[in-house]
Amino acid sequence: MTVETSLKVVPGQARSPRINEWLASLRPALLIDNTWAPAKSGKTFDTINPTTGQALASVARGDAADVDDAVHCAQRAFEEGSWSRMGPGERSALLRRFASLMEEHLDELAELETLDNGLTLATSRGLIATGIEIMSYFAGAAQHVFGETVPTAPDRFHYVLREPVGVCGAITPWNGPIIMACLKIGPALAAGNTLVFKPAEQTPLTALRLGELALAAGFPPGVFNVVTGYGEQAGAAIAAHPGIAKVAFTGSTAVGKQILAASVGNLKQVSLELGGKSPNVVFADANLTAAVQSSLMAFTVSSGQVCVAGTRLFVQRDFKDEFLDSLVSYANTLTVGDPLDPATALGPLASQEQFDRVRSYLEAGHAEGAVALTGGAPEPGPGYFVRPTIFDGVERSMRIAREEIFGPVVSVISFNDADDAVLQGNDTEYGLAAAVWTNDLSRAHKVARGLKAGVVWVNQYMAFDPALPFGGYKQSGVGRECGAHWYEHYTEQKSVMMQL
Ligand code: NAP
Ligand code: MG
Repeated sequence: MTVETSLKVVPGQARSPRINEWLASLRPALLIDNTWAPAKSGKTFDTINPTTGQALASVARGDAADVDDAVHCAQRAFEEGSWSRMGPGERSALLRRFASLMEEHLDELAELETLDNGLTLATSRGLIATGIEIMSYFAGAAQHVFGETVPTAPDRFHYVLREPVGVCGAITPWNGPIIMACLKIGPALAAGNTLVFKPAEQTPLTALRLGELALAAGFPPGVFNVVTGYGEQAGAAIAAHPGIAKVAFTGSTAVGKQILAASVGNLKQVSLELGGKSPNVVFADANLTAAVQSSLMAFTVSSGQVCVAGTRLFVQRDFKDEFLDSLVSYANTLTVGDPLDPATALGPLASQEQFDRVRSYLEAGHAEGAVALTGGAPEPGPGYFVRPTIFDGVERSMRIAREEIFGPVVSVISFNDADDAVLQGNDTEYGLAAAVWTNDLSRAHKVARGLKAGVVWVNQYMAFDPALPFGGYKQSGVGRECGAHWYEHYTEQKSVMMQL
């Protein structure tokens, strides 16, 4: 199978003059206590445009001293009660204003995200729209944090208060920076906590822009702090800080374990959203076109750098040849190139490191005997481009079928029946997401129950709704974000027992 080369990379910087101006005027600074200031060390680092490999801007390299400063300001703000004791209606209104500002600036946020991360502009826009939906959801949810009253004897009154936990820390990855930020900012602030937020070093720009929008929205000082920096420095300082009551982390399973270990010092609460190797199960009775198109999107959107990517594609044995023919044809129509070009389906991977990692997995796939029906090798630079790669002839024991690659690479494996699909689908240390494609209603429900994953999609892939809990089984995470019970992870319970 040959794949046409259609790279159309336009070297250079931003397209819209406003973004160029913003980048040119950006000074390396952290947002602490509603004030922008350089890191105490004065150190900075460059953030890179993965389409060109060139630096976009220099940002402040915050470390433990800056985190400590931010935590103290957040603690002071929390104790003063400017936010924690603000009425929920008022808090809700401020969060809504923040969401509206994001909406007003969606175009520019999307372009900035694409420049820093390499997501196609359409993907950036979609993810930011979802981020706005999440922020709006939590703006409303601020008014839906309920305590309980408990039946008692007539001479007593017992009730349970829900109170914010205090200062929260948030540490996020580079793949979908704004949506990850919203999933942390929304619940932490809605419940009345204050926040110290560290975005990934590869994609700090939209976090800084969100900091500007937070200032414009009018959160009180110390409520929303942004500390850019490296994971081993700023991130580790957040995980270990005794003044932080709860850490919400999204990232790799390996770093998630370090966060959990670091939390032991003050027994802070921890929620972890980690990696995945999600099974996408297609039965022979599925709608072929829908299943093929969604299964392709499931491992190619964001160039496969998605925690819930469908990277183990199980196709019922007798259906596999027909399905693969169609999948390969569609894959060959996808254009890889400049993410700002509307015709592009796959932009570059987000960094040189990620590019090297994906390349090593492509090599491992070949070495272990898998056959690449499309793609199979990285594109020459500049930029970190990899074509959709469909591996056939995959054994479940191969590294490409077991480890999270985080690139546009799928392993296709056949199965016999529903029991076999569930058995193979669950043969992983992860349990973040799964999908099943079938027109047999009973089978759909049975397989959905059988698969050990925090979300199971039926006849679709990657739907998201902030009203539903999101998170992982097994080594894909601890706790859930969103859903009706979201505030269990951002509040303490206090039992009050009164003698009347
Ligand atoms: P990562 O390397 O684990 O980094 C995530 C964040 O942790 C970054 O901000 C990073 O900082 C920071 N960090 C690194 N070392 C740290 C340490 N020792 N202490 C504290 N913080 C530290 O993950 P990534 O490569 O950015 O993201 C990809 C991973 O995220 C994948 O495994 C993916 O599946 C997972 N993910 C999961 C979900 C989910 O919801 N379950 C969603 C998206 C992504 P620096 O980058 O600045 O070093
Ligand atoms: Mg970058």
